[in-house]
Order: sequence, then C-alpha cells, then structure tokens
Amino acid sequence: MATVTRAALQWDYAPAPEARDAASLRSSYDLFIGGEWVAPARRVATINPATEEPLAEVGSASASEVAAAVAAARAAAPGWAALAPLERGKYVFRIARPLLDQSRDLAVVESLDGGKPIRESRDVDVPLAAAHFFSYAGWADKLSYALGGRSFAPRGVVGQIIPWNFPLLMAAWKLAPALACGNTAVLKPAETTPLTALLLASICEEAELPPGVVNVVTGDGAAGAALVRAEVDKVAFTGSTAVGKEIACALAGTDVALTLELGGKSANIVFEDAAIDQAVEGIVDGIFFNQGHVCCAGSRLLVQESVAEEVVRKLWARMERLRVGDPLDKNTDVGAINSAAQLERITSLVAAGSREGAERRSISCALPDAGYWFPPTLFLDVAPAHRIAVEEIFGPVVSVMTFRTPREAIERANNSAYGLAAGVWTNNGAQAFSVARELRAGVVWQNTYNRFDPTAAFGGYKESGFGREGGPAGLLPYVRLTV
Ligand code: NAP
Ligand code: MG
Repeated sequence: MATVTRAALQWDYAPAPEARDAASLRSSYDLFIGGEWVAPARRVATINPATEEPLAEVGSASASEVAAAVAAARAAAPGWAALAPLERGKYVFRIARPLLDQSRDLAVVESLDGGKPIRESRDVDVPLAAAHFFSYAGWADKLSYALGGRSFAPRGVVGQIIPWNFPLLMAAWKLAPALACGNTAVLKPAETTPLTALLLASICEEAELPPGVVNVVTGDGAAGAALVRAEVDKVAFTGSTAVGKEIACALAGTDVALTLELGGKSANIVFEDAAIDQAVEGIVDGIFFNQGHVCCAGSRLLVQESVAEEVVRKLWARMERLRVGDPLDKNTDVGAINSAAQLERITSLVAAGSREGAERRSISCALPDAGYWFPPTLFLDVAPAHRIAVEEIFGPVVSVMTFRTPREAIERANNSAYGLAAGVWTNNGAQAFSVARELRAGVVWQNTYNRFDPTAAFGGYKESGFGREGGPAGLLPYVRLTV
C-alpha cells in the first residue's frame, strides 16, 4: 500500500480589509467656529501614518482664529447655561445617536488618520465615545446628585486640548461632561489626528446644537498654547507631562481652572498564583493595544520570580503571533506608529535600553516599506534605573522586571514619577485588594487591563496629572461650587 505523506498543516489569515470608501472624507476642512465653517488663513495636510499619503487639508489655526472661537463660545455661554438641564441633556443625547449611526465611517477615518487597527476603532474608540455622550446626557439634569446636593454654576468657556492616541474618544471625554454641566467649549485636536474631531463638529451641527456651544479649531502646539492663554475659564488638557507642566506654569496665579491628564509608566503586576495564560493575554492587551500609544499602558511588567520564566516564555510565544500591518485589515493586532516624530522617540528610547544593558527581543515580522512601524518588543534584565524602566516610551515596548514578595512589588510599582494606572493579577482576592490599596495609581485593574467605562473615574497621581474624567467625578471639574 502506498504511503501518503501529509504536508504539515499550514494556514494563514486571508486579508480582510475594511472598505476604505466607507470614509466620506472631503479634500479640505475649515475651522468650526460659532456654528459656521470658517476658512482658515493656513491649511496643512494630515497624513495616513500607515502609508504617508495625505488624507485631507485641515486648518492650522492662528492665535486670532483661536481667539475668534473663544469669543464665539463666550457669546453662546449665557444661553447654554440658562437652558433647562433636561433640554441640555437632550442635545448631548442627540450627539450620541449619530456617533453610533455613523460608527463605520468614524472608525475608518480614525484608523486612516491615526494608524490604529480598525478592530480597535470599531470596537473600542467609537462605541466608547458614544457611551460617554449617552452617559453624560443622563447626568445633565441630575447634577446636584453627583455634587452632593451643593449649589453650582458652570465654569463658562472651557478650552480643551487633546492628544493623538484616542482622538474621537478624548474629544468625547472632554466635551460630554463640559456640555452636560452647561459650559461651552473650544476643542483643539492633535495636529496628526484632526479628522474625527471635525466629523464630530459636523455631528454637532446635525444635532442643531446652538451655534458657538462647541467649536473645533485644528492646529499645532502653538494653537494649543494660544487657547491656554485665551479668555477661557477652564483648561482641560490630555497629553505629555512636559506640555502639562508648561500649561500649569502659564495658568499659575490666574483663576482659570485646570485639569491635566498626562503620561504614565504603569505597572502590570503578576503574582505566582495568577492564571498565567489569562495574565499573558492581559499583558499583551496592556502594552500592545493601540501600538502602546496609551497613557495607562502596562509598560512595566512586574512578575513574581517563581513564575517569571513561564510568563516570559508564554508572552514571547504570544507576541510572535501578533499580526502587525495594515490598520484597515480586521485581522491586524498592531497598526502603524502615529507619526515620524513618535517613531523617532520610540527608536531612541529602545536604543538606550540596549545601550544600558537590557536584553532586547523584537518579533521578526515583515513591516511595510512606507509608513511608520515598530515591531512588538520586550526587554529582559531591566534595572529600575534604566531609562526604559523610568521614561514613558508610548510604543509597543514592555520592560520586564521581577519581584519576590508583595511588599517588593508594591515598592517597585510605586517607584515612579507617574501614577496613572496599574494591573494586579492574582487568584487571591484579599491580596488583590491589599496591594491595590497601596498602589499610588488612579486606576487599578484586577485580572484585566485597559478596560474603560463611562461611569468610572479615570485620572492620575503625581506627574500623571490631576482631576478625574468619567463618571460623576468627571463632572466636578466643569462646575464652580457656589455654596
Ligand atoms: P503633546 O505635545 O503633549 O500633545 C498633546 C496636545 O497638546 C496636542 O493637541 C498638541 O498639539 C498640544 N500641544 C503641544 N504643545 C502645546 C503647548 N505648548 N501648549 C498647549 N498645547 C500644546 O504630546 P505629543 O508631543 O503628541 O506626545 C509626546 C509624548 O506625550 C508621548 O510620547 C507620550 O509620552 C505623551 N502623550 C501622552 C498622552 C496621554 O494620553 N496621556 C497622549 C499623547 C501623548 P499638536 O499635536 O498639534 O502638537
Ligand atoms: Mg494623520
């Protein structure tokens, strides 16, 4: 009888690209000021970081254009504040609905403009953005319950500056509570990812929001700096600690209220009794979600020594299966790095890690020729003083360190200038709570990571900033308590 030789089973994913034509992009966009689309004096192109192709021309607002937006918000403020809270809530609800109706369009544009995998923009960014508007729509007429029965007034005009890692979601985190509390807003998106904020401006127009209640001025860091120094009553900023400090200095001694959501170097702590396979999934989600462009990324992995070998072996095996490439492919796990500047930052910090003596392991994968890419990477033999253990890399790079006792884990986790988030992996509930209580981190996840909910507060300790976003706590920065 003839012997049948079987070929080893080989299979791969077929490409599954989301249709790009779902995105109804125009070739150029104006500034959204006082309910009108106002032609800017200067425009710049925003590009697709996965291909380096230009997507559209957007305004690069000057200080006087920013001032015009603030004036429009000022003019709209008394009417918006005087509106019955239930009516304000209805407007916020009317923004949430089209976010869902247009979710495919928004997800495609978010992935094109910023490089994040479509699976994430489709399943996380867009639905969570809508959920924030829905949630705060419900709070608009119940503010006194959130504020402990105190009397309050809206702050007035708020200047909001957001980063490029979650463009639409950060716009929602900022605008939804501000509007619910009766403020008017000027939003400045990041230079590399302005498009979904402009689509959101169109949605505000469709929702027939009174003119000037929401204004969107695209532009660079100078436009952000101009907004901070304009006639605003409050500034809300998410971005780097360096810019956050500069803004705090600029506003010191004024009565402009400020909240800052800055960087992080969050510890993801795995105890020996944890469900290791589940923890490995959480580590991957913690650091490779959104290419590691996440302020609360679990970028310091602390593993109990007794299971370190097993965790690293399984993590590496899992990393080698990550699919890096086309952000619009539904099978992609890790997309493009957001910009050339961010790729340069990641590359130089990773080089510092190797120079300082840590062992670098990057997965071998074919990276596209055009665009900005970095392979998922882990570092072993990391000392607490290494730059890769101290500084925020904001890329797909995890630094692995070990510990022996819970006390040592807590001390190592807290040994950071930052304090945004942490993860604790253990099957012992009492240990999870006792460790979490001692961590100086705004959010501590137990046996999960990077889970966000509009009803939960998010924010930092130490150099990760101050003020909370999300949930009833996220309303407080947008009111002035009067009694
Ligand atoms: P960034 O400079 O702080 O940018 C955040 C926002 O602030 C952007 O809209 C930016 O505009 C604007 N901006 C820049 N300079 C300003 C100024 N002087 N005054 C007011 N606004 C200003 O952050 P980045 O340069 O994009 O990223 C650098 C590092 O920041 C990253 O490596 C990461 O460590 C950290 N980061 C943290 C978060 C977070 O969620 N916590 C998000 C992004 C970045 P332009 O984009 O037009 O410059
Ligand atoms: Mg872009």
